[in-house]
Amino acid sequence: MSTIASARTQYGKQVTESINQTRVRYTILFCMAFATPFLYPPSWPLVVLAGVSYAVRMFGVEGIYHRYFSHRAFKCSRPVQFVLAVIASQCGQHGPLWWASVHRTHHQNVELPNDPISPRQHGLLQSHVGWVWCERYKDTDLDVVPDFARYPEILWVNKHYTLLMLSGAFFIWLLAEAGVFGPAVSGGAALMWGFFLPTALGVQTVSMVNSIGHFRKLPGGYRRFDTEDDSMNRPLLALLTFGGGWHNNHHRYGASARAGFAWYEIDITWYILKLMAAIGLIHDLRDRLPDDVREEGGLGARDGRIGAPD
Ligand SMILES: [Zn+2]
Ligand SMILES: [Zn+2]
Repeated sequence: MSTIASARTQYGKQVTESINQTRVRYTILFCMAFATPFLYPPSWPLVVLAGVSYAVRMFGVEGIYHRYFSHRAFKCSRPVQFVLAVIASQCGQHGPLWWASVHRTHHQNVELPNDPISPRQHGLLQSHVGWVWCERYKDTDLDVVPDFARYPEILWVNKHYTLLMLSGAFFIWLLAEAGVFGPAVSGGAALMWGFFLPTALGVQTVSMVNSIGHFRKLPGGYRRFDTEDDSMNRPLLALLTFGGGWHNNHHRYGASARAGFAWYEIDITWYILKLMAAIGLIHDLRDRLPDDVREEGGLGARDGRIGAPD
């Protein structure tokens, strides 16, 4: 406890941008995304580009910001940690430490007044997007993430995520101009379909985990666990968010690197993490469920393995 207490006073807050900069950034992002199909009608190369770009950004949020920086569900070397942080910064949802600090605050105060994203407390719209526009959450509370705030290179990524994200966008434009996506794909089209559209869609789908992932009244989901919060498992949302939609599972046992607990709960992030572990990029994947959690969820108290057929 004393170690935690001393760490909590060590780092303070990191200012990354003003709230007006955040508001302008999101407004531009969504306007450009909305205009994309009107400015550049869809074609197969553009749709594939958007899909691949969305996949990278979604794994960045769910696999890296959420399961690694927020919950430490696996381990990796310091260089790999840095590269993962840079990749995830492409998602357009602030830096890794900001994301993790807000998310840990959510878990620690779930459905209470200090939970930034609780529909029960603040309503659906506020939990979906309104809270990001609030002055209160604009800075990164490093004292909530002291385990990662001690790395200067991660602090740097957290501060300069906009620069990193725009560098990624420039790289997509460059690839298109070099003809990598085929002669029919211009730099402008690649920028709209490969950056603005998938980034905006990713922001929306992750926001849905915060809003309808904590909203019992909407059909299309189920609760495997009778948790005190309003978290839901939503299969369609889980597909779109690479496993983030198994939110009731996650609130019952968030330490797991896998959010889909049954074999039929498709969890794309988990499959990618398994692959990364198999080739040695990451290690110590936390994939065991305690027997009492398995029994409580109707999964059978077998050997603690997650995902074995029931
Ligand atoms: Zn939640
Ligand atoms: Zn979480």
